[in-house]
Amino acid sequence: MIELTNVERSYKAGHEQTFVLRRINLLIQPGEFVTVMGPSGAGKSSLLNTLALLDDGWTGEYLLDGEAIHRMQRKQRAEVARRKIGMVFQSYHLLDDLTVAENIDLPLSYKNMPRSERQALVADTLDRFGIVGKKDLYPSQLSGGQQQVVGVARAVIHSPSLLLADEPTGNLHSAQATDIMRLFRSLNEAGTTILQVSHSESNAAYGTRVIEMRDGWITEDRANGSGSTSAQTGTNAA
Ligand code: ADP
Repeated sequence: MIELTNVERSYKAGHEQTFVLRRINLLIQPGEFVTVMGPSGAGKSSLLNTLALLDDGWTGEYLLDGEAIHRMQRKQRAEVARRKIGMVFQSYHLLDDLTVAENIDLPLSYKNMPRSERQALVADTLDRFGIVGKKDLYPSQLSGGQQQVVGVARAVIHSPSLLLADEPTGNLHSAQATDIMRLFRSLNEAGTTILQVSHSESNAAYGTRVIEMRDGWITEDRANGSGSTSAQTGTNAA
């Protein structure tokens, strides 16, 4: 569970203090699939980076599965992030000089896992995501959609309880975007909590809840009742 209380983030520009997150109070239960929407500059990425523990500059309280992130030092936060969080980026962020299998293996290198177990998990994951045939290829040899499938596989190989995605289909064609959203839906159905930033209503339709942001504030927070219906028809992909 995610519990944010009075989270704020600001930057100093000269003598001015500009707030990009304003008094954010947010409760996300395990198993939710949340889409954060809003205009450019609204603070969506700032919120995501805060949740991902990629940014330390915020104030307020952040409880992640009961762990008080706001009381932790950077090193402890990094350890929590490696254990609990998976991250998917708009531009994939794969390492160009590693193969697909090596990219997917990366999050496991932080774990104290026997080599054979690690290899088995990589093999399972390649299989689960339908990319066994691509395992020895490099990212540059894949389409954008395939690269993002690898990005998602890498994000979840260590079974994080929270998957965070910043415009995960922003660089993809609609058919590829549908593939990624279907992957997200099946991960969510298997129990992973998901929070994605997206401009796409059709991406949001795969989720259970939509949060709107503007000028650093959460301006709307609604259940996405009709979501699964329109998502299941597959007719209005991004
Ligand atoms: P969104 O993801 O909704 O487009 P962001 O969270 O990226 O919004 O940015 C919110 C605001 O914070 C923007 O006005 C942006 O210019 C500002 N901002 C983001 N990062 C920095 C930074 N490192 N220094 C100063 N301002 C920043």
